[in-house]
Amino acid sequence: MNSYFLADKLHNDGNLTDNEFLKILYETDSKFNDYLAELARKKRENYYGKDVYVRGLIEFTNYCKNNCYYCGIRRGNKNARRYRLTKEEILSCVRMGHGLGFRTFVLQGGEDPYFTDEILTDIVKSVKNLCPDSAVTLSVGEREFESYEKLFKAGADRYLLRHETADADHYAMLHPADMDFYNRIKCLKNLKQIGYQVGAGMMIGSPFQTKEHLLKDIRFLQELKPEMVGIGPFIPHRDTDFKAKAAGALSDVLKLLSITRLILPACLLPATTALGTIHPKGREMGILAGANVVMPNLSPKGVRGKYLLYDNKICTGDEAAECVNCMKNRMANIGYNVVVSRGDYFGWGKNVTIHG
Ligand code: SF4
Repeated sequence: MNSYFLADKLHNDGNLTDNEFLKILYETDSKFNDYLAELARKKRENYYGKDVYVRGLIEFTNYCKNNCYYCGIRRGNKNARRYRLTKEEILSCVRMGHGLGFRTFVLQGGEDPYFTDEILTDIVKSVKNLCPDSAVTLSVGEREFESYEKLFKAGADRYLLRHETADADHYAMLHPADMDFYNRIKCLKNLKQIGYQVGAGMMIGSPFQTKEHLLKDIRFLQELKPEMVGIGPFIPHRDTDFKAKAAGALSDVLKLLSITRLILPACLLPATTALGTIHPKGREMGILAGANVVMPNLSPKGVRGKYLLYDNKICTGDEAAECVNCMKNRMANIGYNVVVSRGDYFGWGKNVTIHG
């Protein structure tokens, strides 16, 4: 069967056999990616039209107790300049972001033990009190079930925890022995059980990754059914063991974005900053491949250059207002609209069905 036929089949059925997925994962014809992207765009427009949701990203701590081999803020990196934002600084970012039209705030950080449940629930409650019309997304790594539950009860709506790879052996090549693949998967399932809109996701082109690993990622996403999927390229950081490894290929990221849109048609799918880092038009290409979310940075300018998971990160010097305008223009130039909305998962909290 040729790959174009398989793309149509994926568009119509939302699924393929393992061999069929591998055939399209191995496909190198660049026109095939364009075709897949066109189908993914059609699918996303059934659910979200031309709307693009914006999330205000607040990177509030770059301390981390973990040592992921690929990460620039891993605890072992003595060159990282560490910072933590105070609650007041976080709230000031939120206030400013709300004025700019943001209705989702993503509080992201390393796994920083300073942020106990008590401190973090207080921050979540304060953000919700300040902006009751807005959603709070947390991205603070692996925690206990009870901790996730407390944060949810405090008002957190969504939680991002990329699984990074769905293959346990591959996971062990990217993480030290004190990090457990099965615990990460358990965390994702706990988050689902509690009632968050959950985000999983993976790096594309990470060291040692094969197409068969990507197939496992696809199967894992189909099983978990996350409401959000974060997919970006691996990009090396100079202070890690992977510094000499090649970055993930743009075409592979775009292909996985399109496949993800076709298997999980209603998912919230960001065109990531990392995608914009490997290509000046990466985020636009991501939207045109089926993504529907962008995440401009609302962190104070003084700390932007310190939250560096990978090298050459873009948008570390701009004011938030400039980032928002830049993003609106970028999206308008490709025929999409940045909207003022919480941007929940399609039909979240309602009884809605869609056909097509
Ligand atoms: S990837 Fe996340 S958990 Fe791993 S070292 Fe970096 S910030 Fe910490």
